[in-house]
Amino acid sequence: MQLMLTKSDKLKAKPDNSKLSFGTLFTDYMFNMDYNPEKGWHNPRIEPYAPIHMDPSTMVLHYGQAVFEGLKAFRDDSGAVRLFRPKDNIARLNRSSKALCIPEFDEDFIFDALKKLIAVEKDWVPKAPGTSLYIRPTIIAMDPFLGVRASHTYLLFIILSPVGAYYPEGFNPVKIWVTKDYVRAVRGGLGEAKTPGNYAASLYAGEEAHRNGYTQVLWLDGVEQRYIEEVGSMNIFFVIDDELITPMLNGSILPGITRDSAIALGKKWKMKVSERKISIDEVMNAYETGKLQEIFGSGTAAVISPVGELKYGDKVITIGNGEAGPVANKLFKAITDIQYGRVEDTMGWIEGV
Ligand SMILES: *Cc1c(COP(=O)(O)O)cnc(C)c1O
Repeated sequence: MQLMLTKSDKLKAKPDNSKLSFGTLFTDYMFNMDYNPEKGWHNPRIEPYAPIHMDPSTMVLHYGQAVFEGLKAFRDDSGAVRLFRPKDNIARLNRSSKALCIPEFDEDFIFDALKKLIAVEKDWVPKAPGTSLYIRPTIIAMDPFLGVRASHTYLLFIILSPVGAYYPEGFNPVKIWVTKDYVRAVRGGLGEAKTPGNYAASLYAGEEAHRNGYTQVLWLDGVEQRYIEEVGSMNIFFVIDDELITPMLNGSILPGITRDSAIALGKKWKMKVSERKISIDEVMNAYETGKLQEIFGSGTAAVISPVGELKYGDKVITIGNGEAGPVANKLFKAITDIQYGRVEDTMGWIEGV
């Protein structure tokens, strides 16, 4: 398959690197590729960033058959552009697709196309400390049809957005609200897939948390409401009695790449690392007995997000004086040092462009 490039005749002005936020600005070009049953995935092209023309009956708008990814490109001190574990994101996009009856694509081809898109847009990878180019691959169902079935046609697109530092003034621990009334996903559902519906399902509980002065929701399992699953749209870690614990992948948890990176580093550092069930009662008990050392979330956007306070029913607990702990600090530094090329990548996580 030949990747076509259509040049734009008008390029946007690059933004001031020190004033970037998240997800508001987009670059000059995007990648598009179509699917139909006759041709399979075809017509891959890099072309000017533009609105998508679609019929109001387009299936994705009605039944939510869509999947996406989020990853980042970083600029090192020499000016080179580095992608963090991109093949893992591309593989996960295919796994999410499978769960939503979206036809799978050739991962090597999309990896190549992604690198070409980033190469075309390399001047958009910001230079200021902590900034990066956020990459959003997405696949949507395109049949103009109101019947309920898997679509026959799809669009795969990749857009790019320069984003600011998540912690411009150092870690800012979040307050989390354990919801007893709502669940994000259940085993056998779509919790393992990166699909918009999971986000739509999280908004109501998120607003409840915000109304009560909390930033993120801590999700318990959908069956017993006892076992911890995720925090907001991040995976979650606990340090209890020097054990680094994260809920095991059980079918309703998103297999985060930052989660996997934190586990790998913890093991490399010879910590006791456990992927297992962990109940909210175990966490509250560990707090009572003075063994709860840290709680933090993990995800591409923030890398590591320390939790300073947790509310469960009428109990409010403060973790580590409300400040980031040593494991959160060490993981954040180790992962971002690899991303920005400040240390050698001994884990094999970086791909050049
Ligand atoms: C994307 C996502 C994560 C984090 O995954 P990373 O690969 O680490 O960015 C965690 N939970 C949910 C629900 C997600 O959608």
